[in-house]
Amino acid sequence: MDSKQFREVGKQMIDYIADYHDNIRQRSVKHNVSPGYLLPLLPDSAPEDPERWEDIFKDIEKVIMPGVMHWRSPRFHGYFAVGGSYPSILGDMLGDAIGCIGFSWASGPACTELEMVTTDWLGKMMGLPEHFLHSHSGLGGGVIQTTASETVLLCVLAARNRMVARMKETDPDMNHHSVISRFVCYSSDQANSSVHRSGLLADVRMRKLQSDDNFSLRGETLRKAIEEDKAKGLIPFFICATLGTTGCCAFDSIKEIGPLCEKEGIWLHIDAAYAGSAFVCPEYREHLEGVEYAETFSTNPHKWMLCNYDLSVMWIKNREYLVDAFNVDPFYLKHQNEGRVPDFRHWQIPLGRRFRALKLWFVLRCYGVKGIQQYIRTHVSLAEELEALLVKDGRFEMHVPATMALVCFRLKGTNKLSEMLHDHIMARGDIYIIPDYARAQGKGVYFIRVAMVSEYMTSDDIEVTFRAIQRSADCVQERYADLLQTEKNGVKDDYMPLINNDACPADFKK
Ligand SMILES: *Cc1c(COP(=O)(O)O)cnc(C)c1O
Repeated sequence: MDSKQFREVGKQMIDYIADYHDNIRQRSVKHNVSPGYLLPLLPDSAPEDPERWEDIFKDIEKVIMPGVMHWRSPRFHGYFAVGGSYPSILGDMLGDAIGCIGFSWASGPACTELEMVTTDWLGKMMGLPEHFLHSHSGLGGGVIQTTASETVLLCVLAARNRMVARMKETDPDMNHHSVISRFVCYSSDQANSSVHRSGLLADVRMRKLQSDDNFSLRGETLRKAIEEDKAKGLIPFFICATLGTTGCCAFDSIKEIGPLCEKEGIWLHIDAAYAGSAFVCPEYREHLEGVEYAETFSTNPHKWMLCNYDLSVMWIKNREYLVDAFNVDPFYLKHQNEGRVPDFRHWQIPLGRRFRALKLWFVLRCYGVKGIQQYIRTHVSLAEELEALLVKDGRFEMHVPATMALVCFRLKGTNKLSEMLHDHIMARGDIYIIPDYARAQGKGVYFIRVAMVSEYMTSDDIEVTFRAIQRSADCVQERYADLLQTEKNGVKDDYMPLINNDACPADFKK
């Protein structure tokens, strides 16, 4: 493809993208394909001869779109918000066009420095402490990582290293490996699965501590765990606290956890992957109380701040724990300005890195702080509208009050009934939602999560979502009236559902 053709088909692609977004409500939000759908549609091997772009382009609708889940659709309420906007798409386009790999300042000065500026902007917008900013005289700063999961792994590794180094100070002959076998780190039982996994990857004990009735991890719980573990000869070194858990958007009490971490020399990492974006609005910053105790903080503008995946920001108070801990410096990556500016390869796991700051820069400039605040507040109020409709109906109950644009509800009655409701909604396919399961007050609770995802969502869309839920509730209640009362039917309610979004009773499939 030469530049002449690129100009032509590039404009056609832009039109296709804009049309896709403009008309997204007309597509069925959920794909209707089964595993293996794609294989028969494509040849066994790559074409020998070049193909015409027109033929390739036609296959987008024929081959790809049938198997697409339309995350940008206002009917999509799964998982959490996933960011995306035109300025962000343009940022990725330009980043791809420049195509630099900014592992060091020298390999991409603009790539490095725009990242410093935009992570500082974002940190200030969110009200984070100054010690996290590059512009501050300390050793802190922000860096763009691919994902929050990669960040938490990196923080576990850095914290592990810091603890080993500290112990070596008092006992230089200490056996590194045998001491690590006594290391333990913590998170709440509500933490994202990636937190537990980072413990597995780093080969250290990761203890899940019980959250309270509001699904929040409290200081007292942590204090007891530390005491118990130390009595067993274990060495606590890291905790991941979550602001806005994946299940029901709960907030760990960092103002209680922080001082304990300081006292015990435990590395506090704060995972605010989703809800962090909301701190751009001052009215949500009460959850940030205690943030000054954190060594690291992470949030995903690719979730709730209009940036396309992937763009996750991590801030660190003292970069030396990261940069010096895992430093390898081959000759071919050296440059004469070393030390004066960050070489971000030392701040992450991979060597290479994309020019991601462009999309953050475009988004922050095109929307401004006010535009982003408005976007967040709109999503929050749409979630509250849905909550009000559900409550007014009378048949539903809230698992927790609507929080940060996430609605968690269930049908009053047995878990099975809510599971049937979920399956019915999914079988009809008007909207896309996912369920979750939590233990609350000693028993298992099945609930349905409705996240506000699309930038384009309006009150009318919330009506559509509510009516879809209502319609399915009518059907389920009619057919499964016997499940309404647990005791009468002796239904054992405390069960772990087998979550399978595609497993719907055959009679729902009409
Ligand atoms: C989504 C989420 C993650 C994982 O985010 P990735 O960037 O996909 O790794 C981690 N923690 C919380 C609380 C999340 O909501």
